[in-house]
Amino acid sequence: MRGGVENESGILDPFLKGAHSPRLILDRLSRISGPLAGIHRAFVPRRGCTVFSKSFEIFRVLGFPIRLDLSWVPVAALVTWSLASGVFPALAPGISTPMYWWMGAAASLGLFASVILHELGHSLVARRYGITIRGITLFFFGGVAEMVGEPPSARSEFVVAAAGPAASLAVAGAGWGAMLGATALGAPGPLTAVIGYLALTNAILAAFNLIPAFPLDGGRILRSLLWGWRGDLRRATRISSAVGAGFGFLLIGLGILRAAWAGDYVGGIWWVLLGLFVRGAAAGAYQQLLLRQVLESEPVARLMHPHPVAVPRSLALADWIREYVYRYPFKMFPVVDGGGRLIGCIKVRRLREIPREEWDRQTVGAFVEQCGPENTVPAGANALSALSLMTSGGVSGLMVVEGDRLLGILSLKDLLRFFTFRTEIEGI
Ligand SMILES: [Zn+2]
Repeated sequence: MRGGVENESGILDPFLKGAHSPRLILDRLSRISGPLAGIHRAFVPRRGCTVFSKSFEIFRVLGFPIRLDLSWVPVAALVTWSLASGVFPALAPGISTPMYWWMGAAASLGLFASVILHELGHSLVARRYGITIRGITLFFFGGVAEMVGEPPSARSEFVVAAAGPAASLAVAGAGWGAMLGATALGAPGPLTAVIGYLALTNAILAAFNLIPAFPLDGGRILRSLLWGWRGDLRRATRISSAVGAGFGFLLIGLGILRAAWAGDYVGGIWWVLLGLFVRGAAAGAYQQLLLRQVLESEPVARLMHPHPVAVPRSLALADWIREYVYRYPFKMFPVVDGGGRLIGCIKVRRLREIPREEWDRQTVGAFVEQCGPENTVPAGANALSALSLMTSGGVSGLMVVEGDRLLGILSLKDLLRFFTFRTEIEGI
């Protein structure tokens, strides 16, 4: 795929960029879920779904599920077409048109395998460092190894990032050797042309990904070197993200030139899209890191609202509506038993399912949602894990508990307000 891109956006997300309002951030965070990027940190996974909403598992390799996003399909078709109609007729003239199409299809499949091998390089090394890889997804811009969490050290980030290009270089070398061998043995021209093309493509794949522009592998290598040198991950991310964003702009400019000057519209538009993607992922990665660093060190108990308004379970639904729902701007109320012990919560939106005539007959207790990890967080947890809980469960508030005691309520708005204030006031 034209230089093949496998991208690795950090905690990735082009979506987070430019998100100022907490609501927007939540919306974007919830979409990030999975992976966007090679080595990508699935920071706030939403239950069972990823950024690649239209992806499906096709097989497993060494325990890693390999998924195909539907956006890969038009790319594969385009690659096959451009190889069959342009590249192979120029590389190996004098072959029949149907054979060029077979060669295009074979090389397109080979490209698919090449991207998987590249991602497997990252994934196997990541696994050695104890980093969980949830799978490999092929999509519009290449491949992604979905990494959960951050590499624990600069050294591990360096080795994991370098493993992908190393795998591609190894495949390129093997392909080159195979092509020379096939030529020496007098193998048919179409076969040697396809092998040669794949050897070259893997070399380009390695070279392109080594460009030191975050979130490409080279950018991760740059970040790991800066991180190891100065010991400051935030600064290292800021610098490599800035290089990544600059490279994104360069790609956009080159894409426009390619289309306008050389008349190569398909290639030009692809570069522009890729540039936009790299730029967004680079900028988003820094925001994500900040969010992680700011919230990770902040205990939930410091950000919660203490003395929350709790509802007795025996209260009639009509009274709850009158005395609580209309009086307080909350979407959810903790519910306590006669002894003041927390038993769960009731959500205002449940009212839509309850017929009006039932409001006088039923009590709050009949509609309680039991306490569980989806609506409660221990007082000692950090704010990052609370945010992760909220986004994975699609809720905007959590009850902060200690045993069966309710200590407070933590809202998403408060979390994000704290993040915004800290970054603005401290200028980080
Ligand atoms: Zn890579």
